[in-house]
This record gives sequence, structure tokens and C-alpha cells, in this order.
Amino acid sequence: MNFQYTEEQLMVRDTARAFAKEVLAPKATERDEKELFPWEELKQLGKMGFCGIQIPEEYGGAGMDTIAYSLMIEEISRGDASVGVILSVTNTLAGYPILKFGTEEQKQKYLPKLASGEWLGGFMLTEPQAGSDAGAQKTFAEDKGDHFVVNGTKNFITTGANGDVFIVTCVTDPSKGSKGTSSLIIEKNFPGFIVGKKEKKMGIRASDCAQIVFDNCIVPKENLLGKMGEGFKIALSVLDSGRIGIASQALGIGVAAMEAAKEYGLQRYQFGQPITNFQAIRFKFADMMMKLDAGRLLTHRAAWLKDQGLPYSVEAAMAKLYTSQICVEIANEGVQIHGGAGYMKDYSAERHLRDSKVCEIYEGTSEIQRFILANSLLGRN
Ligand SMILES: Cc1cc2nc3c(=O)[nH]c(=O)nc-3n(C[C@H](O)[C@H](O)[C@H](O)COP(=O)(O)OP(=O)(O)OC[C@H]3O[C@@H](n4cnc5c(N)ncnc54)[C@H](O)[C@@H]3O)c2cc1C
Repeated sequence: MNFQYTEEQLMVRDTARAFAKEVLAPKATERDEKELFPWEELKQLGKMGFCGIQIPEEYGGAGMDTIAYSLMIEEISRGDASVGVILSVTNTLAGYPILKFGTEEQKQKYLPKLASGEWLGGFMLTEPQAGSDAGAQKTFAEDKGDHFVVNGTKNFITTGANGDVFIVTCVTDPSKGSKGTSSLIIEKNFPGFIVGKKEKKMGIRASDCAQIVFDNCIVPKENLLGKMGEGFKIALSVLDSGRIGIASQALGIGVAAMEAAKEYGLQRYQFGQPITNFQAIRFKFADMMMKLDAGRLLTHRAAWLKDQGLPYSVEAAMAKLYTSQICVEIANEGVQIHGGAGYMKDYSAERHLRDSKVCEIYEGTSEIQRFILANSLLGRN
């Protein structure tokens, strides 16, 4: 076992850390308050290779491994969790499935655009009646020979309003249940692609989240991803990979919350001394450190397994479940350490708490992660 990062991984971590500190963090509160999408920052991140960090160099990507990806998402999320989720989605929920399941033509067409950040990607599984029960899909893609006609509604889509290309799970044969679903690559410019309600969110407010309506949307047959009937299988594989990204985002939010509490606690005097002198406060920091370290080990183990081509679904679920739980706990303690100031908008502590919550919800709720873990131990019931 080797717990050392490679030179390349350390370079990615340090570059992302510096960018997060110097470029992202100073304006994160303003972007949150005004719901400003980070267009300019994403352009820079594209040039740095962070929009396609795992896409091979032959398709314009940085060709790095999943641990480098995880370190990058953690550091970027430390500066701004909204930017973290956009990068996680475009890298893992759009670039990864095209790389893994796409034809050579699809890779040539889409990966260079995603890798450079010229296009942002997204992933559409959730529907009004199909949330945790992702198999209850209704969006229907009718096979018309050389094209599909898609009708249906997808809910809560990250980059839905601002993204360019999406991996969309559709029903193609309603008689076959989850084996009757297929994955399509749908561009926002295809006729019948309609951006519906833009959501107002509790946290990660600088990222966009929208309902998408497909109204007789015409999708060329060459945009089928994988084979007919593989839609659910592809979606589950994409989510396994995506959970490493969300676990990394949760770590970044947790570190940001801990650092903010440390900075505040060291200079806040009560009873004639910094509040960090009180054991009740010191122990909170000790727990935060330990939880973050444990979460990072779980996350990097899942990333390492993925890079070895070994099964990692259970480990990714464990990492996502644990890191999202501790990031909410740490952000909550961060507000507590700030006292009344933590409840006010003058400090970042309240933003970290609002940002943290979504990690327990998207890409499978904590209940669904427990479901995956229990099934792996006890068998499905
Ligand atoms: C900000 C944001 C961005 C998102 N981005 C995307 C995106 O880009 N693409 C996309 O496809 N989706 C996206 N989602 C959707 C997200 O994945 C779903 O919200 C999530 O999977 C939960 O589904 P639901 O909201 O329908 O909740 P429900 O499934 O209705 O769950 C409600 C509650 O019931 C619990 N529950 C449900 N079933 C069970 C069960 N069998 N056992 C125990 N408890 C259960 C859940 O854990 C939860 O606590 C996003 C969501 C948010 C909030």
C-alpha cells in the first residue's frame, strides 16, 4: 500500500489550491448572493485542463487519473462549492460516459469541446416521478429509423440552463422496464430542447439547476450512447463515478468550513483569551481534522480502485455517504464556533453550511447510499 501522491497529483492539487484561494474564494460570497454563474472562472479552468482532467490527451484532455481528479475537485470546492459541482458534472457525468461508452465519432465530436471548457456537459436522470426510484423513467425516445423523437421532463438538472451537451436516460421500450431504457447524447441546440423552470436553491447558488422539457426533440440516431437497452446500466455506472466527485466536493466544503472557523476562533476573545483555548472548542477541531482525513482516505481508495479497473461501486457509495455526512457536521460546527457571527452573512460559515447540505441529496441520497451498502452486505431484499 502506498499513501504517497505522485508529483503529478501534487501539482494538480497545488495548482487548484492556488486558483481556489486567489481567484475563486474572494468572490464566492458575491456569486452566491447574486446567483452569478462563474463563466469567466470556468473559461480559465478550461485552459488549465480542469474541465477534462481525465480525458486522454488525444481528445484534448489532461489525461490524469481519478486521484488527481478528486484532489482537483476538493481544492476547487474549497474555494467555491458551486464551481466544484459544475466541474464534477462536466468531467464525470458527461465526459466520462462519452469516453467509456461512446463511439470514436462521438469521442472526436464531443470530448475536445468538453475538455477545453468550450462546452459544459450535464446528465439527466431525475424526473418528477423518478428521483431515488430512478427506474421509474417516463421520458420516451421513439425510434424513427434515422432519428429519435424525445418527449418528457427532467428535473433539477445541474448546468441545465447553461450547459451545451447532456447524457439523457430515456425509455425506448416500455415493455422491458429498466432494460428498456437507452442513453442519448442531446445537445441544447437540438429542436425541441426547452429550458423550463430555473430553480432557486438553498446553497451552491452560483451553479445553475433547471427543469428541462423535451417537446418532440429530434435526436440523430448516431447520438445513441452505448447500445439500445443499456441506458440504466450506463446511468448507474456514471453515478458510481460521479460519487467520487461529490465526495471530493464535500471534502472541499468541509475543509473550507474548518479553515474559516479556525481563522475566526483564533482571533475571537472571550473570558480574556481566544476561544480556541477552550477545550470544548479545541475538541471540535480535533474531530473535524480526523473526519476529513478519514473521508479523504475513503474517497481516494474508491478513486484508486477505479483507476485499477477494479469494482468500486460500494467504496464510492461509502465515500459519498461518509464525506457528505461529515461535511454537514463540520459546517454546522463551523457556524457554532462563530457564535452569532456565524449566523450572519458577513462570514462564509453560513454559506458553507448551506452548500454542504446538497451533498447528502444529489447523485443518490444518503438513504440510497445506505441501501447500496446494506444490499452489498446482506443481499437485496
Ligand atoms: C441541486 C441539485 C442538483 C441536482 N442535479 C441533478 C442532475 O444534474 N441530474 C439529475 O439527474 N438529477 C439531479 N438532481 C436530482 C437528485 O439526484 C435527486 O434530487 C435525488 O436523487 C433524490 O431524488 P428526489 O429529489 O426525487 O427525492 P425522493 O426520491 O422523492 O426522496 C425523498 C426522501 O425519501 C427518501 N427515500 C426515497 N426512497 C427511499 C427508499 N427506498 N428507502 C429509504 N428512503 C427513501 C430519500 O432518501 C429522501 O430522503 C439534483 C438535485 C439537486 C438538489
